[in-house]
Amino acid sequence: MYYCENCRNEFDEPSVEKTTYEDFYEIGAEFPNKTEMNLEKCPYCGSDEFEAMTECEKCGEYCRERDMLDTEDLIEGGVGVLCPDCYRDNGFGGGD
Ligand SMILES: [Zn+2]
Ligand SMILES: [Zn+2]
Repeated sequence: MYYCENCRNEFDEPSVEKTTYEDFYEIGAEFPNKTEMNLEKCPYCGSDEFEAMTECEKCGEYCRERDMLDTEDLIEGGVGVLCPDCYRDNGFGGGD
């Protein structure tokens, strides 16, 4: 699942628009060979400011994937992938 920071909608998969590297960066228009690339966008507003979201294995909340902590990577017999609230509650992460 993904969450758009721009329009605050949730969606399963970003929409993909095919473009080329040269067109996207507006360079190299004089070169005949272009490098294809896929642009991933929010299907609602077209923004690329969206985040991959993951479900917390403890509380079931969806949080940004990059904020999640895989406790099984940290300790043997970890308790799964946790959101920031849960991993603090469980004594992981420490700090603030
Ligand atoms: Zn959006
Ligand atoms: Zn949680």
